[in-house]
Amino acid sequence: MKKLVSILLCAALLFGTVAIGTHASEDEIKWDGDPVVFLQGFTGSPFVMDRGLETETGIWGAGAEFDAARIVAAVPPILIGLVSYILGGDSGLLVSGIDYLVSDKLGKMACNPDGTSKYNVTPYPYYAEEASIATLKANDKADFVPEQEINGDIAAYVPEEYIYIFNTDWRLGQIDNSERLAEFIDDVLEITGKSKVDIYALSHGGQTAAAYLYYHGEEGKVDNALLDVPAIGGTSIVKGLLGLGAANFDMDEISRFAGVLLNTEADLRWLGKILPGEFLNELLKIVFVECFQPYAMNFGSIWDFMDVASYTEFKEIYLNPLTNYEMIVKHDKMHYDCMANMSKGLKAAEDAGANIYILANYGTQLGSGEAIDADFVIDTTCSSGAYTAEFGKQLPADYKQKNTTCTDPTHNHISPDRTVDASCAYLPEKTWFIRGQYHGMIVRDNYTRPMITRMLLTDTIKDVHSNPAYPQFELSQNPIDAIYAKFANETSGFYNADSKALVVRNLSNEYSITLKSVVAEGCEFTVDKKAVIAPGEEIEIPCTKLSGSNIKVEITYARKGEFLTSPFTRTVYFCAK
Ligand SMILES: [Zn+2]
Repeated sequence: MKKLVSILLCAALLFGTVAIGTHASEDEIKWDGDPVVFLQGFTGSPFVMDRGLETETGIWGAGAEFDAARIVAAVPPILIGLVSYILGGDSGLLVSGIDYLVSDKLGKMACNPDGTSKYNVTPYPYYAEEASIATLKANDKADFVPEQEINGDIAAYVPEEYIYIFNTDWRLGQIDNSERLAEFIDDVLEITGKSKVDIYALSHGGQTAAAYLYYHGEEGKVDNALLDVPAIGGTSIVKGLLGLGAANFDMDEISRFAGVLLNTEADLRWLGKILPGEFLNELLKIVFVECFQPYAMNFGSIWDFMDVASYTEFKEIYLNPLTNYEMIVKHDKMHYDCMANMSKGLKAAEDAGANIYILANYGTQLGSGEAIDADFVIDTTCSSGAYTAEFGKQLPADYKQKNTTCTDPTHNHISPDRTVDASCAYLPEKTWFIRGQYHGMIVRDNYTRPMITRMLLTDTIKDVHSNPAYPQFELSQNPIDAIYAKFANETSGFYNADSKALVVRNLSNEYSITLKSVVAEGCEFTVDKKAVIAPGEEIEIPCTKLSGSNIKVEITYARKGEFLTSPFTRTVYFCAK
């Protein structure tokens, strides 16, 4: 999913993404010998047509043929169509231009109404024996290694012949994908002679891995499974893109997301001001509905992206009980069995020896504009199973945590900003929430990046209670967020009666900052406006008159050496302990 959104963003912004890697160095991490199986996000797997035949061609992703003639032919109608759409509102020519551009690629990827592939196309690499990073590199296929920054972090500890790329057929539903993952894991264990694998699964791959753990977890073949922003319960953004829900992308959020994708601390807020939001949203809706929807409706993955209620609603409208019969059987199973009982399934896998870690993000509105707490791409509820307040609001003052999954009344699973109740998450004791981190952006975050390598490869973080350095709720620490704050004598997100100072850290790699103001209702801060905080440094802000059960602190700062940009504000919430 992350990939799809970044393609859209990049196309819209005419930028390319730049990948700059840094290796997390955690001395105590020691590889325990388990091979790692890596699953990437939606649309990530490369595809070939007619594999092994004379007509073999790469059709998607790495190794795909680049059809320059088609692009050249499509540009004039797209440009003329764009102008005529702007002037007269007629989108016909624009749609046919884009359709000409994408229909060749998507046409080869098409599926039948029963959900099977229309043509002889498969992901590559497909078989375990060709899928380790070492084998890919030896076969001159280094560009088939996905998420190279994350895999680089893993490869700092795990030999590349023990890191296997499992490519889902991301067109198909997860019942099919999880069965093939089961065979793949068996093959990896046979090749390596080991008894267990570790799994790193990102986004859509996280839904595949969760379905595998649900149906095969009790076989005990998994040691650690790290599900990074998994689409376990789907995502409401798909409904928006398919014209079944909202499609109202916020241009300020897009400009910030662009900064994260581009890995730049440059101030891109101007972009949000100049992008014609309404126009781009309308265009996106037309292009998606006209050019992508005809293919998407036969993709099982699209149906698995819908939560149980939406699936039930939309299958009545869009799926035919006769022609789509085989699809319906599988998606009924996925929704009414697997997704509906996921918590139990994951716990059964844990009882069989798996350590499952879920990383979910929150604190960002769902990209399509609905008032849903998300990481921009996936609803926080869908990645974690947790209950969230309507986006922009807090849980009511008299709210009691649901305790439907965690039944220990002494645990506090409510986020310090009182927006998330994790007591009803799939795995309340094994789910970590990062406020403000975008979907799949751990590589830009100095806190979560080393944390998840540790979770994947070691058993040092047992659960959300065991290690104060890794609390259940934490703030994203991407340099673009610039400010991190916690009270000097407390864990992140909390304060107590003896709290006398707020510690403010400058997360930036590039800019020194000065504080303009630190304000909160029910608290007074004494700010030294002349103090300069260098990159990576922190400062203590004395505070008095701390009162109330939770406070919202607004920290406004300016970057030194930048005179043309206005100050930035970061909001941080704290709860009384
Ligand atoms: Zn608990």
